[in-house]
Amino acid sequence: MTIEPSRFDVLIVGAGHGGSQAAIALRQKGFAGSIAIVGDEVDPPYERPPLSKGYLAGDKPFERILIRPAAFWTERSIELLPGRRVVRVDADGHRVETQDGAAFGYGQLIWATGGSPRRLTCSGYDLPGIHGVRTRADVDAIMAELDGVTRVCIIGGGYIGLEAAAVLTKFGKQVTLLEAQDRVLARVAGAALSTFYEAEHRAAGVDLRTGVTVDCIERGDGAGLAVRTADGGAFPCDMVIVGIGIVPAVEPLLAAGAAGGNGVAVDAGCRTSLPDIFAIGDCAVQANRFADDAPIRVESVQNANDQAMTVATRIATGDAPPHAALPWFWSNQYDLRLQTVGLSMGHDEAVVRGDMGTRAFSIVYLKRGRVVALDCVNMTRDYVQGRKLVEQGASPPRDRLADASVPLKELL
Ligand SMILES: Cc1cc2nc3c(=O)[nH]c(=O)nc-3n(C[C@H](O)[C@H](O)[C@H](O)COP(=O)(O)OP(=O)(O)OC[C@H]3O[C@@H](n4cnc5c(N)ncnc54)[C@H](O)[C@@H]3O)c2cc1C
Repeated sequence: MTIEPSRFDVLIVGAGHGGSQAAIALRQKGFAGSIAIVGDEVDPPYERPPLSKGYLAGDKPFERILIRPAAFWTERSIELLPGRRVVRVDADGHRVETQDGAAFGYGQLIWATGGSPRRLTCSGYDLPGIHGVRTRADVDAIMAELDGVTRVCIIGGGYIGLEAAAVLTKFGKQVTLLEAQDRVLARVAGAALSTFYEAEHRAAGVDLRTGVTVDCIERGDGAGLAVRTADGGAFPCDMVIVGIGIVPAVEPLLAAGAAGGNGVAVDAGCRTSLPDIFAIGDCAVQANRFADDAPIRVESVQNANDQAMTVATRIATGDAPPHAALPWFWSNQYDLRLQTVGLSMGHDEAVVRGDMGTRAFSIVYLKRGRVVALDCVNMTRDYVQGRKLVEQGASPPRDRLADASVPLKELL
């Protein structure tokens, strides 16, 4: 006897920000068909940003980072299928298979799998005591070991590495941070912001080194570890945290024939090249109007949520405007709240507003004379008013832009 797989009108793969938001938005838009979210984590959908901030710091218990209370999903008839990893997609047959041998049919599939933390490739990369920071399980594993830890070596000076450094320094740990590029945040911000954060971390006691590549990780004395760098450096520690980016989780989709590579390619409606399959969030590569229409992956909650809304609107109503949402992002380190709007990559001019020494300032990025992004540190007013400058590609006089006493809304 053949058992027919369960079938859902919309099946969402990945119970993270994009996946959960797609289900929420479908119901908000009046979609009455069956919806299931299959995800490989055991927990119901939760917010990921606090993992390197309030959750790691112990300020926010897990219940406070749930995207919705547990009862929400049953009330909205959204079936959660946790602890199941999709390993195969049969695009013609409209079904997926999970690692435990189950199969689920679908009318439309939303692929929202994010990515897994990129691993080091050097010897010793998998020794006990080496952690990534992507899931609640990752952070619980770090927290479970912390009592016995004095020295932490963080590899990677992106937002996650820097946020973890801030929390662990506050805990009184001796933190070393190793960054391969010649400055932290090199992929996402301008040089002035990098210099500012490097100084903040050093002032807080972090031994921050740039331009160093990890050669290998070895067992040190006793239970310890030692990170060795290509320039002959050795950094003994009790724990290593690796924050060097993610690898998009798209293998089953690419194996099914979807176009893509470092992520799955989607059009302006978040449709993949396969019929009835959408992709959203960190794993989706899409032409971005705020990056001169270059196809990029944007790793942020805003992007996952906005793409989820685009897809949910399309499925629920049969129509949706193309995804063209303005990117924004935030990061908390020490008492510094950074808010970013736009994409600063490829900027050719950066104007500092205010005095960086006061720890409340903004950096406005321009490309070919037009504002493309702002990084605002403890400067929410600029962040709020600067959004319009980016949206409109404004070209304000530089002296007025640099003058923090001139509200940005006057420069439109
Ligand atoms: C520590 C940390 C801090 C961050 N801080 C910020 C911040 O301050 N601001 C901000 O905007 N963004 C932040 N981000 C980024 C943000 O969390 C992501 O951009 C966002 O989660 C992307 O949503 P997503 O749905 O694409 O992926 P995710 O939220 O990662 O969800 C994907 C889910 O799919 C699961 N999955 C993967 N493969 C499969 C499979 N084959 N089958 C089933 N399930 C699968 C994954 O395990 C995961 O549960 C942070 C990320 C991390 C890790």
